[in-house]
Formats: sequence, C-alpha cells, structure tokens
Amino acid sequence: MDFRVHRLYTGRIGSNAYVVENGGRAAVVDAGMGRAVLDFAEKNDLKIELCLLTHGHFDHIGACAALQRAGAKIGVSRKDADKLYTENNLGGAFGVETEPVRPDFIFRGGEAIDFHGLKFTVLETPGHSAGSVCFLTELGIFSGDTLFCGGVGRTDFYDGSEEQLSASLEKLFALPDAPVYPGHGLSTTLKREKENNPYV
Ligand SMILES: [Zn+2]
Repeated sequence: MDFRVHRLYTGRIGSNAYVVENGGRAAVVDAGMGRAVLDFAEKNDLKIELCLLTHGHFDHIGACAALQRAGAKIGVSRKDADKLYTENNLGGAFGVETEPVRPDFIFRGGEAIDFHGLKFTVLETPGHSAGSVCFLTELGIFSGDTLFCGGVGRTDFYDGSEEQLSASLEKLFALPDAPVYPGHGLSTTLKREKENNPYV
C-alpha cells in the first residue's frame, strides 16, 4: 500500500485540505475553499473519489460542491450535515458565500471508511461543533478543528461546547502517539501536543 498525504493551504483563512493519494486516486479530508484541491488534482492527474469532512464550517466545505461535480462522494457526520446547505456553516457571519451541497453519505461514528485498503476510522470529537469528528488512519490522525499544533478549536460558536471539547481531547490523548494533521496550521504529533500544547 502506497499512500501519500499532501497538505494544501486553501482560502484566505488558510484552512488545510489534505489529499491522500494512492496510484492516481485520491481521498480528500476537508475540501477547503476555492480551487486548491481541484487544481492539485488536475495537475497531478488524480481522480478524487472521496471527500471526508471533519466538520461543516464554511472554510472546510467551500469546495465540496465542485468536488462532488467532479465525482467525489461527500461524507459528513449527522450533526454537521445541515451545515453543508444552510447558513449554519457560518459563512454568512464571515461574509463568505458557500455553494450548498447535499452529502452523499453520513457517518455513524466508529465505522471505518475504506479507501483502497486505507481505513479512515471515524472518531466522534464534538466541541468545536456538535458534529466534529477526527479520522484515525495508519498514516496519522486528521484532527480538523479539534486539535492544532499549539492550540485547540474555538468553542464559542452556536453549537460549540468547551466541556465536550475537553472530553474529545481526552479521547485523542488516550490514543497511541501518531502524526496529527490539523484543519489549520502545521502538522504535529499527539505526544508533542500532550506535552507542549498550552490549552491542553
Ligand atoms: Zn471550524
């Protein structure tokens, strides 16, 4: 199995979209904004098959409609699904228009989504939003806006919860050390954040 992770910096807020590549095929974790993922796929001749969302905020889902038109199946958790087609994605609050999109499938929580032998296990990590999830893979953890390098996600949005975020972080830190690919900023590791993150 040969999988490569590419981090793309997208939009003016700088949300990360991750392209996991496997022999001309790709799974994307968070679509990001604008054409970053599509341009990368075109340039590298990749067929995007899957787009898994850590949550439904506008800066992570902006490109979803375009990815779906290009053939990607969009997956999101039940509690964040409405953000894909309503103002609950907070785009309006930030003055960003987001093209609405209907998800192709909904996570149950705890299941493993298969991408040509690479499993993305859905770990429910509410707090930043009610439906935030992380994806556990053998390549590392895609942590969305739950855990950053040197920070944690905001909990002051309408369906955020500081209490839930703390419990979610505890869940993550109970896992064995692994690379962490966050929704914003640089990659890190679980161990490093456990020891150095000032918010933990
Ligand atoms: Zn967010």
